[in-house]
Amino acid sequence: MITFEEALKISQDQAVVFGVETISFEEAAGRVLAININSDMDMPPFDKSAMDGYACRRQDLALNLEVIEVIRAGIPPLKSIIPGTCAQIMTGAIIPEGADTVIKVEECEIIGVGADRQGAIRFTGEKTAPNICYRGEDIKTGDLVLEAGVLLDTRHIPVLATVGKVFIDVFKFPSVGVLSTGTELVEPGETPGPSQIRNTNAYQMIAQLAKTGIDCDYYGIATDDEDITRNMISESLKNNDILILSGGISMGEFDFVPAVLQSLGINVAFKQVAVQPGKPTLFGTGNGKFVFGLPGNPVSSYFILELLVKPFIYKCMNHDWTPPVLRLRAARQMTRKKSDRLSWMPVRIDREGLVHEVEYHGSAHIFSLSTADGIVPVPIGKTIIEEGEFVDVRPI
Ligand code: AMP
Ligand code: MG
Repeated sequence: MITFEEALKISQDQAVVFGVETISFEEAAGRVLAININSDMDMPPFDKSAMDGYACRRQDLALNLEVIEVIRAGIPPLKSIIPGTCAQIMTGAIIPEGADTVIKVEECEIIGVGADRQGAIRFTGEKTAPNICYRGEDIKTGDLVLEAGVLLDTRHIPVLATVGKVFIDVFKFPSVGVLSTGTELVEPGETPGPSQIRNTNAYQMIAQLAKTGIDCDYYGIATDDEDITRNMISESLKNNDILILSGGISMGEFDFVPAVLQSLGINVAFKQVAVQPGKPTLFGTGNGKFVFGLPGNPVSSYFILELLVKPFIYKCMNHDWTPPVLRLRAARQMTRKKSDRLSWMPVRIDREGLVHEVEYHGSAHIFSLSTADGIVPVPIGKTIIEEGEFVDVRPI
């Protein structure tokens, strides 16, 4: 049996890129950028006030200052600041010639001249920062702001907006088909008869991929009949680049999937991986198509989609996906009996940042997933994680 790392490498090495398309920057979250983006302007584009207050000369802070102008955001100043003067200024407005400091309105007293005491101010604070955002201090014209290959998300939308990049080239999403196998399955809206259960895998897979931005085609449930399974798989292979199916690949007499795939020209690269949960995991390719056969048990298929399928899909978008991990301490000792496979344990993180095992009866126990914050790998050969030991929690 191959290791999980080998399975990951074998599948990743087969990934192909499905081309580039142009989209609106508003739809960028979840896409992988195919071009470098450079700034078309300095940011800020001018020396800009960071405060509502008065723009003046630092050396005049001790003086009473005559207010010579009101400068609004969006309207350029008309006058220069000369000794003994200042300009009332709004946040985001251009700093006038001659000024090097903005004093906050909260630290000014209107002392004024004349009956209405308007027209002059005095600084009442002890010291002040310049309160100026200087031209080009964030980014200069021509600077690289986003590099090809980056996985875009909501944080990148304002960057694209500020440099005026309203259309961008991104790598295409592969088209993905989803199929469940098993005569025992009924759809979630139905009431299972004796010996039946509801189909969970298709919906969790569709939801997991929807989170990446991919809208799957769902083909339904293939009962454990060789011809039906062949027809449904072949339908998806016609329409999609990648087929993800669940169940039907273990050792049971009615586990037709590997044979059916082979008969459809898909070469099965592996159908067992030394990972727990997730041993019956299949990957095959042929005719420019890719097939992942995930285990029937829902926790296994959930994990394997995260661990094997998502990295493959990102690779098909020219992106090496390395989800962040949280290195945190185990709250208590965790043990397992066998250590012949890499194992992934569902865990919860408490408010102190300590890691707890969640109640987990095995790979059919979907309820344990709903209380987990992440999964922790336990390598081959390791049976004990000590209390206080650091573990790498991968959020799921
Ligand atoms: P299989 O890999 O087809 O032998 O299935 C292994 C276990 O997972 C069996 O108990 C199946 O009933 C269950 N199972 C298979 N497919 C699904 C599914 N789509 N939703 C929920 N459970 C499933
Ligand atoms: Mg089955």
